[in-house]
Amino acid sequence: MKWLTIGAFAKACRLSPKALRLYDELDLLRPARVDPDTGYRYYAVEQLERARLVAWLRRLGMPLARIREVCGLPAGRAAQEIRAYWARVEAETAVRADLAAFLVDHLSGESRRETTTMLELRYAAHSDRGHVRPANQDTVYAGRRLLAVADGCGAAGARASAAAVDALKFLEDAELSAGTVLNLLEDAVRSADEAVRNVAEGDTDAGTTLTALLWTGSRLALVHIGDSRAYLLRDGELFRITHDHSVVQALIDEGRLTPAEAATHPQRMLLAKALSGGEPAVPDLKLHEARDGDRYLLCSDGLSRVVSDQRIRELLSGDGPADAVRVLVEAANAAGGDDNVSAVVADVVPRAHPL
Ligand code: MN
Repeated sequence: MKWLTIGAFAKACRLSPKALRLYDELDLLRPARVDPDTGYRYYAVEQLERARLVAWLRRLGMPLARIREVCGLPAGRAAQEIRAYWARVEAETAVRADLAAFLVDHLSGESRRETTTMLELRYAAHSDRGHVRPANQDTVYAGRRLLAVADGCGAAGARASAAAVDALKFLEDAELSAGTVLNLLEDAVRSADEAVRNVAEGDTDAGTTLTALLWTGSRLALVHIGDSRAYLLRDGELFRITHDHSVVQALIDEGRLTPAEAATHPQRMLLAKALSGGEPAVPDLKLHEARDGDRYLLCSDGLSRVVSDQRIRELLSGDGPADAVRVLVEAANAAGGDDNVSAVVADVVPRAHPL
């Protein structure tokens, strides 16, 4: 066997001797032999391949603990793990990109304000127990400035969703000056989380999703956590503007599951994130420039699970908000939905009484 000193080995695999010593300590890459007298580390030429893999995975930013797992796998499984890791990085980057866009928009949006204060929202909300569940655990709200859907779970689910939405209602009257929108939404989610903790009273299964839009006079700020959804109907096209925080969506993102498989997956109802009053979950934040003629829809999974996006688009393209929420809820029940079903629809329209 040909031995390499730590210096020669470091050079050959492009890792520093310092990194190699660390990887030895972490049991990630052990030298093939350590001289019992001098303590010098010696590596075998055969270890170069693993060392190079470690170096490349470090360059991807993969944490060392995960690298150790990947290195212990046969090549095919290792490839799968790397694909999954990268898909997760991209999903997280997308959320950060939204936040960056939010900030850019927020800090540069001042000059556009006066052109859009001529708009306002026209809205309606409807929530239905459905034909199967014994109680309605969804909560909806629609007001001049705030639109919200929350879908509670656990024995205290109904109280959890109601408490979360209640905790947001101060936004109807809050002073929305430049620079405060982000902080306000963060405060709102924190107080919603606290409110859920209070009603849960130690019931660890209790929790709720929360998807809400806050009208700033020219834009809509979205705050989202869980698997309720927000859609935008613009120029006849339907855009989904939220990403489900569900276990199956994470598996789809990682390429481990197809959307078709997800629809029947046994864990399809499990949330990856929710307001549960425990560890505070970080919500997604987004800012949408409002346009005259835009129509927004917020809904619980009782609608989106049983009515396709295509059908939602058709049903949403008709009459005013009050009729739209009614036909959407009816469609979910008619499709044999077994969940509570909720919808909030808001139109961006010219102000009835311009300021
Ligand atoms: Mn539901």
